[in-house]
Amino acid sequence: MSFFTSAKPFVVAGPCSAETREQVLETAEQLSQLNIQLFRAGVWKPRTRPGSFEGNGIEALEWMQEAKHKYKIPVTVEVAEPAHIELALKHEIDVLWIGARTTVNPFQVQHLADALQGVNIPIMVKNPVNADVDLWQGAIERFEQAGAKEVAAIHRGFSGYSAAAGYRNQPNWPIPIELKRRRPELPIICDPSHITGSRSRIAEVAQKAMDMHFDGLMIETHPRPDEAWSDAAQQITPAKLKEILANLIVREEFTQDMSSQIQLEYLRQLMDTLDAEIIDLLAKRMELSEQMGEVKKLCNMTAYQPVRWREIVETRSERAQSHLLTKEFIVELYEKIHHESIRRQLTILEGIDKKINK
Ligand code: PEP
Ligand code: MN
Repeated sequence: MSFFTSAKPFVVAGPCSAETREQVLETAEQLSQLNIQLFRAGVWKPRTRPGSFEGNGIEALEWMQEAKHKYKIPVTVEVAEPAHIELALKHEIDVLWIGARTTVNPFQVQHLADALQGVNIPIMVKNPVNADVDLWQGAIERFEQAGAKEVAAIHRGFSGYSAAAGYRNQPNWPIPIELKRRRPELPIICDPSHITGSRSRIAEVAQKAMDMHFDGLMIETHPRPDEAWSDAAQQITPAKLKEILANLIVREEFTQDMSSQIQLEYLRQLMDTLDAEIIDLLAKRMELSEQMGEVKKLCNMTAYQPVRWREIVETRSERAQSHLLTKEFIVELYEKIHHESIRRQLTILEGIDKKINK
């Protein structure tokens, strides 16, 4: 069992930033009374714009070291430069994390991986700020190639121009799910604090992460969140964290319950049959498209016909809505189907062009 799967969920908590010795020790003391696995605080803070608090550096590392020994809890800080790694190791930091603004840069990630060559320390790699699963996976691989044995991914959401659905960073759940598909054994920790940017929504995203088979949670915690020097709006008190963890429903992929297993198996068989029908129908639909392509070819008509496409979107979404399917879902699905139809018709139209040109 790896360090990151030693508890379910594996909980990382602590303030966004180590502000003062008193704040670090007070938070660590309160959190040490909860069931959390790792105490976090940023000592070097990557701030989006200059002029805000950028961390207390070495002094804060000493407070983390003191908290570790005083409250017998492993500690983690963010590192963004090889010099940070050297200092963190000197101060007995147990786990390092790579921030979203660092993961985005393969040069910097490689510098960090080189600095960790031959060092045995667990590492957590946050997703890059842009929704690029390859870049995230690539950063993880750089650390693994440098010899890291214990690596976890942290899903902290992705930057967007607008705060979609009221979140600070869009969760874009298919991205961490794709990472988990590619690397099933890699533990994934969700960071609802940086996804939501708002303390009132931490619980809902933490639960969603459990529903989506995540292994852990990273939640920013401060004794007086409103007074925090960074990310104040998203930090919660240790008491609130205790409440969230107590109410969390932790789910498993499989069940030992025989009757649920049988019921699921029965429903899956029905679904397998339906999926087979859907695929057969799609194949028939494509055949019709090709026949239409032949007609369009003869009359010099375009493959793509905006009037017809608008009609498809309208009629299909109307029908879908009467079955309580959302318009967004059905339009997205039909965009894919229509795209494939057009691609097939274009092949037919190009066929005639070639013949004519001969
Ligand atoms: C943080 O965890 O405080 C932090 C800076 O996170 P991110 O890299 O996700 O922005
Ligand atoms: Mn933060």
